Amino acid sequence: MKLLSWGRYPPLPQAAHAVAWRAELPALLANVAQTCGTTLAYGEGRSYGDSCLAESGQVLSFRGLDRFLAADWSSGILRAEAGITLEAIIAVSLPRGWFPAVTPGTKYITLGGAIANDVHGKNHHRQGAFGCHVRRFGLLRSDRGRLECAPDLEPELFAATIGGLGLTGLIEWVEIQLMPVASGWIDGLVQRFDDLDGFFALSAELDARHEFCVSWVDCAARGKKAGRGIYMAGDFAAENWPLPAPRRKWRFPFMPPVSLVNTWSLRAFNAIYWRKAPPKSRRAPAAYDAFFYPLDSLLDWNRLYGSKGFQQYQALIPEREAGDGIRAMLTAISGSGQGSFLAVLKRCGGALSPGVLSFPRPGVTLALDFPQTPYLEEQLFPRLDAIVREAGGRLYPAKDAHMRGDDFRRAYPDWEKIEALRDPSLLSCFWRRVTQ
Ligand SMILES: Cc1cc2nc3c(=O)[nH]c(=O)nc-3n(C[C@H](O)[C@H](O)[C@H](O)COP(=O)(O)OP(=O)(O)OC[C@H]3O[C@@H](n4cnc5c(N)ncnc54)[C@H](O)[C@@H]3O)c2cc1C
Repeated sequence: MKLLSWGRYPPLPQAAHAVAWRAELPALLANVAQTCGTTLAYGEGRSYGDSCLAESGQVLSFRGLDRFLAADWSSGILRAEAGITLEAIIAVSLPRGWFPAVTPGTKYITLGGAIANDVHGKNHHRQGAFGCHVRRFGLLRSDRGRLECAPDLEPELFAATIGGLGLTGLIEWVEIQLMPVASGWIDGLVQRFDDLDGFFALSAELDARHEFCVSWVDCAARGKKAGRGIYMAGDFAAENWPLPAPRRKWRFPFMPPVSLVNTWSLRAFNAIYWRKAPPKSRRAPAAYDAFFYPLDSLLDWNRLYGSKGFQQYQALIPEREAGDGIRAMLTAISGSGQGSFLAVLKRCGGALSPGVLSFPRPGVTLALDFPQTPYLEEQLFPRLDAIVREAGGRLYPAKDAHMRGDDFRRAYPDWEKIEALRDPSLLSCFWRRVTQ
């Protein structure tokens, strides 16, 4: 089986060595490292660029390590193998009144992947990143064998592994703290805003009041309409309503030869979507699945971008520069006529994760997808990179396939700590590209 990353770019197919039992991991790691030089753990491959691709083209697939190991439903402490998905955890924990404290925009990710990218979600301003809720994990290294890591056990490796891009060892199992919830429903509200100032005003008002906040932004709007979008906020409903019925799923059935996302489809979709949202705040109750994971109902949606794939650009601009920086980025993007139906703006908070290389910092993050064309790396991305550089911002390695090495090393000055603690048998295409 050949694997790619979610963006299907860069096209570097990976041979997968499947892991079924933790007991076989040490021998498998030694074998693959000996034959191929280096390798890398692979979860669900929901990273967009090349951070989940092994430099050797040989990954260890953790999908088989998906067992629950222990759970205390009075405290919400859960221990499971690292290849288990958030989907599987929610299926068991939600009926018992618990939910992952932090979840990204898809539930099809593994615990190992959540730690390695220290993922963040709609409640970053309240709960920080995933690493803030990790109690301990088991790590296998080719040079030191099995280790248990926690804030007070191998603290350096604990911090380096959270957001450590899978380079400090293979995570075998994880213990996390879940958050208590009264229902599977979100008591949400929705309101559109006319421009970027509107976003900042709503964010200042609503982030303080709600656990989950995120915005969609119309990346195709220009002139006075630039920066318009829709603010969505919510909290788990306190009423003990029956669990929502599972959502119907569809699968995007084929791989079109060219991207179906283009200037015309983008402008038309965005204008209609924005107009449909209410100008004044309106309550919008939603099942957790629709609220957190809107894209999960269309399986294989990454095929929409055609066989050349796509790249996501996710940047974080520090709080002080956020207004000017995000405005400049949106102007460059709308001027290019490129972009995606889903462009996300989110304010990150000040709760710092223990992770050495964690992406989120106080500021505003903008994320959107672009169909892969040479224009991206020749023109648009250099322009966006210059804006991010000048604002003192950073790009998210989990989404990246183009970042320059000097930009990475400037934005993540602690990268050498990870290099010093890197397992010599583990190396990704991303790490090779930005550090070596
Ligand atoms: C639709 C969609 C929405 C998303 N929304 C968000 C979001 O809101 N916020 C956010 O932060 N991210 C988001 N992401 C990105 C995604 O959450 C991360 O890329 C996540 O890390 C993917 O996990 P995975 O299990 O697929 O890991 P993979 O992509 O397979 O691997 C990611 C990294 O984890 C490492 N890894 C995996 N398993 C192990 C292990 N057992 N031991 C050691 N290292 C391991 C890999 O080596 C690699 O470096 C989104 C992705 C998609 C497709």
